[in-house]
Amino acid sequence: MKICFNQATTMKYSTLEKDLQFCEKHGYDLIEIRIDKLKDYLTRNTVEDLVKFFENSHIKPFAFNALEFISFRTEEDFNEIVKDLEFICEVGEKIGCSQAVVVPTFDVGGYTIEEIKKETVEKINILADIAEKKNFKLAFEFVGYPNCSVNRFEQAYDIVKTVNKDHVGIVLDCFHFYAMLSNLSSLKEMDVKKLFIFHIDDAENLPFGALRDDKRIWPGDGAIDLDGILKILKEIGYDKMVSVELFRPEYWEWDIEKTIQVGKEKTIKVVSKYFEV
Ligand code: ZN
Repeated sequence: MKICFNQATTMKYSTLEKDLQFCEKHGYDLIEIRIDKLKDYLTRNTVEDLVKFFENSHIKPFAFNALEFISFRTEEDFNEIVKDLEFICEVGEKIGCSQAVVVPTFDVGGYTIEEIKKETVEKINILADIAEKKNFKLAFEFVGYPNCSVNRFEQAYDIVKTVNKDHVGIVLDCFHFYAMLSNLSSLKEMDVKKLFIFHIDDAENLPFGALRDDKRIWPGDGAIDLDGILKILKEIGYDKMVSVELFRPEYWEWDIEKTIQVGKEKTIKVVSKYFEV
């Protein structure tokens, strides 16, 4: 299992340069690049600088995070998402990164599950047609907040199955999975080919529906049954990558290198019980 760093973990004060430097130093295999951090990086550097960095490093780019709030948007707003997709396809082709996370919209109003499915499938299909021409993959990430239009694994997997394209899959984020009571038994039935990205984290022990990203905590330090999830991933034959993704303000205040180092140690401790890392 390859170990990946998601830039959300150091989001507040770090830069792509710093995250890359410290992740390489501490032996991460992969990085998920935030689109805002990439745009910021390109104000000081060029895409060719990034190409050179990856050519000379162990660490490789795995995915871009994220095309956010893709459903129930105005035409103008959706066009901005398309522009971002075209931008990351272009950069991705040069640096060898061919995958983006896509996220559904929050607070959409009183739509039924069926109406949300129809709208979300439609928007994923539009983005997937653009992505396909660039050999780019899309990984759909549900968010375990009560006000997110797609907030459970079962609902997200149904959408991805309905899209039914080889280059469209799902992100499994342990925090989102736990926060809105997704079922471990549904995970068992997943086609492993559809699991594109695995985000690991943990959560404070709050009532269901009350968790927000700031209550994420290092893997192994919280209330999520990570062993239960990892055992099933092993059973269904998943062993591709695991990405540590925290959004905890407390960790943002730490020294950046320390956050990156501890993130890897905590991830390995939990994951190595089931997988070779
Ligand atoms: Zn995530």
